Amino acid sequence: MQKGQIGVTTENIFPVIKKFLYSDHEIFLRELVSNAIDATQKLKTLASFGEFKGELGEMDVRVKVDKEAGTLTVSDRGIGMTAEDIDKYINQIAFSGAEEFVNKYKDTANAIIGHFGLGFYSAFMVAKKVEIRSLSYKEDAEAVCWECDGSPEYSMGPADKAERGTDIVLYIDDDNKEFLEQARIDTLLKKYCRFLPVPVISGKVQEWKDGKYVDTDKDKVVNDTEPTWTKKPSELTDEDYRKFYRELYPGQEDPLFWIHLNVDYPFTLTGILFFPKIKSNLDIRKDRIQLYCNQVFVTDSVEGVVPEFMTLLQGVIDSPDIPLNVSRSYLQSDTAVKKISGYITKKVASRLEELFKENRADFESKWDDIKIFIEYGMLTDEKFCDAAMKFVLLRDTEGKYFTLEEYRALVESAQTDKDGNVVYIYATDPTGQFSFINAANEKGYNVLLMDGQLDGHFISMLESKLEKTRFVRVDSEVAEKLIPKEDSKDSGLNADQISLLTPLFRSQIPAVDKAEFLVSFESLDPAASPILITQNEYMRRMKDMAATQ
Ligand code: ADP
Ligand code: MG
Repeated sequence: MQKGQIGVTTENIFPVIKKFLYSDHEIFLRELVSNAIDATQKLKTLASFGEFKGELGEMDVRVKVDKEAGTLTVSDRGIGMTAEDIDKYINQIAFSGAEEFVNKYKDTANAIIGHFGLGFYSAFMVAKKVEIRSLSYKEDAEAVCWECDGSPEYSMGPADKAERGTDIVLYIDDDNKEFLEQARIDTLLKKYCRFLPVPVISGKVQEWKDGKYVDTDKDKVVNDTEPTWTKKPSELTDEDYRKFYRELYPGQEDPLFWIHLNVDYPFTLTGILFFPKIKSNLDIRKDRIQLYCNQVFVTDSVEGVVPEFMTLLQGVIDSPDIPLNVSRSYLQSDTAVKKISGYITKKVASRLEELFKENRADFESKWDDIKIFIEYGMLTDEKFCDAAMKFVLLRDTEGKYFTLEEYRALVESAQTDKDGNVVYIYATDPTGQFSFINAANEKGYNVLLMDGQLDGHFISMLESKLEKTRFVRVDSEVAEKLIPKEDSKDSGLNADQISLLTPLFRSQIPAVDKAEFLVSFESLDPAASPILITQNEYMRRMKDMAATQ
């Protein structure tokens, strides 16, 4: 029996693990099951290269609860480990600077797991003793047993194990008895292992008998080894996507559309993003994008990986290239992550453009549902904004949709102010502003409907992006001041002359009504009527109303 000390630079790493990772201790199961999957995949790879010539046999991963013995066992039929392997991969954990690192990232419980090869050691978050029993795939390998009780000492010796592969046996400690409940394990497997690429078996299939569920003797496979996002888009129907969506988010309305992501270079990323029907409240984001790493669930908080506005979408992103276990601030500065984020943005924008071009009527019919997403994206992401200028739509009060370019062409000649700005008239409350909208329409002006949650910000953004453009609410006297571009003539007066003449003419207006009138020298026909005195539309209406009451 070999005895030894685990090679960590820190005197005793286990209290550190327990303390800092306490809040997230359930992830030990994810770590152990993914190790089992890795070992399985490695052997399959060796076999495919002809480096393993034996029988692969059943390659399932099993998670077994033994309540009486107080153990939880994760077994695989993968490559297994020899005593040398255990020495190398388990005993001598490369853990330089662990202490520093832990101190730096105290708040992110997940921080050191995985990133520093601590995956296996996370078992000590829930176990008072851990046993490895393993038989390597190598010819003439001898089975080996390793044991450690959570102190830096371990013992290692021969084991009696005939089957190739590894059993990791956790003797669950008293504080973590919950992990001896099959129901709790089922929940965790469903969360972390639902889409793993190798069948994971735990518990038995149940059936309804005599008024309750009872175990049958059939093993229960907990995962779907070929989730939709790993398939080729050409092999999938619309119904396949909808079905997958319902699996992920049961009970929700069908998504409006989706984007299948697939890239190999310069990073690997697959996934499907769904556009849900976004209701008005931007803060409701409970069913979020899920982040996977080689089909292992990692998190559903993707802030930092995708641009902020994308968190309104749903679906799955799977990438081995996202450093998943480090802090958010690190994520945001990571160049690989920046590239990934940029790629997703570009993909989403080009898919939207494609939808717009392929079927404009359909795009318009979905517009009211996706508008808030697109506006939010344009307001918060420069690159998305530039791309979206091509397909963002404006809706007028009659329900017609225009691209920015189309709208410009529509109003450019008729709706200009004296400074040569094109004036976009808009209403925020079509019922309340009904009479103003009517009046503007009668004059041949178009009125936009801007009643969305973000429209105020959106208008300011457009004003800064579009040249010589002014947005004016319809309930002002603006309609009165508009002049058709080609007809407007220069009065021929300079600024000094205007400021001299204006008070002169104003002085001739009856004192009581002075405020309601505007004096200008920009008549359509300066030769016939060199000066224009107009009454404020709003005041005129108020007066008319008062007179009729
Ligand atoms: P990582 O998985 O990031 O390498 P872990 O701490 O999870 O780090 O595992 C350390 C190493 O131990 C693995 O790289 C692998 O070589 C070995 N190992 C762990 N579990 C198994 C297993 N079930 N079968 C074979 N080897 C394993
Ligand atoms: Mg691991």
